[in-house]
Amino acid sequence: ESVASEEEHIFRSQYPAVPIPNSTLPDFVLHGAELYADKVAFVDSVSGRSYTYAEVARDTRRFARALRSLGLRKGRVVIVVLPNVAEYGIVALGIMAAGAVFSGANPVMHASEIKKQVDAADAKLIVTDGLNYEKVKSFGLPVVVLGGEQIDTATNWDDLLKAGDRASISTVQEDVDHNDLCALPFSSGTTGISKGVMLTHRNLVANLCSTLFSVPPEMVGQVTILGLIPFFHIYGITGICCAGLKNKGKVVVMNRFDLRSFLNALTTHEVNFAPIVPPIILSLVKDPIVDEFDLSKLKLSAIMTAAAPLAPEILSAFENKFPGVQVQEAYGLTEHSCITLTHGDPRKDHSISKKNSVGFVLPNLEIKFIDPENGQSLPKNTPGELCVRSECVMRGYYKNEEETSRTIDKDGWLHTGDIGYIDDDGDVFIVDRIKELIKYKGFQVAPAELEAILLTHSSIDDAAVVPLPDEEAGEIPAACVVLNPGAKETEDDIISYVASNVAGYKRVRAVQFVDSIPKSPSGKILRRLLRDKMMQHMQMK
Ligand code: AMP
Repeated sequence: ESVASEEEHIFRSQYPAVPIPNSTLPDFVLHGAELYADKVAFVDSVSGRSYTYAEVARDTRRFARALRSLGLRKGRVVIVVLPNVAEYGIVALGIMAAGAVFSGANPVMHASEIKKQVDAADAKLIVTDGLNYEKVKSFGLPVVVLGGEQIDTATNWDDLLKAGDRASISTVQEDVDHNDLCALPFSSGTTGISKGVMLTHRNLVANLCSTLFSVPPEMVGQVTILGLIPFFHIYGITGICCAGLKNKGKVVVMNRFDLRSFLNALTTHEVNFAPIVPPIILSLVKDPIVDEFDLSKLKLSAIMTAAAPLAPEILSAFENKFPGVQVQEAYGLTEHSCITLTHGDPRKDHSISKKNSVGFVLPNLEIKFIDPENGQSLPKNTPGELCVRSECVMRGYYKNEEETSRTIDKDGWLHTGDIGYIDDDGDVFIVDRIKELIKYKGFQVAPAELEAILLTHSSIDDAAVVPLPDEEAGEIPAACVVLNPGAKETEDDIISYVASNVAGYKRVRAVQFVDSIPKSPSGKILRRLLRDKMMQHMQMK
């Protein structure tokens, strides 16, 4: 009897491997900045405040030195509570250059939600602005505030940079290694609440090397990229901020989305590349505001769409309305340092992947699709859980070995919780998601977090939160709730209760009262079953 060693179905990139330099992320992206010294790297789309490459390189260094002179030690986490501002990239890179760890928080979160991230990350310092200072001032941590005015006892950004000039620490980078942690973004992964995703300089450099492999030298210095996707999210910090700097592009920074300012920013700043998310494409297709604009003035040559699935009808409608704009779909996740699969090799038209596929396997990456039941890898054209192995895979979840070993197996495969397949041409399709995660307009919503909040309500006995499909948002969080006997609350009461405890994008938007939450014998919520029941219920209403 022979122990059959199952043949593994592993798919690799069709493109040759690309080298990954042994460099820290700030060194990597600012390499060559002196050749573009006077070129604008970041410009705020509204105020016009801008930083040249020389200024970004200088202020990154000044901020790093200042952080060290404040006593911030290597490996310590700094939470950044900022909308997209022209200084964001300098803040993040300065933290990394100091050998510390950048952890971006969504500034629309309530103080209690930010506090959870601060505690979970063991943060030692907060960087924020005047508007968000109130939320963080009582956390008992030193706070650096951007903007000119002195607030409270906080450290003022401008003063701090000046202190950086005087700091005696000469070269802060000499003890920073490319294998050190540099970022701790938060993601709920396949299950449970949000966790710190430990990413090293090397993870992010590797991701940029893979993602930018096809950028021809003549494109360097030529791209004007829209910085609308939040920079606290991996898509914003890696895919826009760092990729923009690496290519010596100009990043047009926008701190929130409304269609008019979006279209204005595109035309005023002659943006030629706009990474966005499906809900924005939907509004470009459907909103009559678009007709007020002279679209012939657009310099846009490509958009990228990622973070959530794009409906095929919306893609076609967009292509009809904007025939000159190439749509580059991409798929990625925080745990893989950003992009994993993407469309479009500008050198070769024929390599642009099929419509509705999320793209091809980037260089240096290996992927496989496994049967979620038994873990066996599956051949082409057979849907299974997408797993990826590369130098972009996170080191693990911060202080959470259990979730880490559930997510990265002993052979180094990151289990994504997404279901997809690869076809004969090497194009990958994502068809479903088996992890708990809900994506509202591309933002992560962790059901476990909302369930915990629901359970704090004195009239709620049990609760489960599941995604329901929604045309505009992609998905909305919906709650099944078991009320205590005698409780008088209405569905709207429950919706308001959650809304008063979480940021707008996490709100529960539909509630159904049920007698019990279906669970497996081991106590796991049967989410699929619940979602299907809830969808039926909604259709009946
Ligand atoms: P995040 O870590 O917030 O970037 O979320 C990653 C998750 O978003 C993935 O695991 C997918 O479930 C989903 N996602 C990202 N990009 C796409 C895409 N192009 N199509 C479908 N789902 C996507």
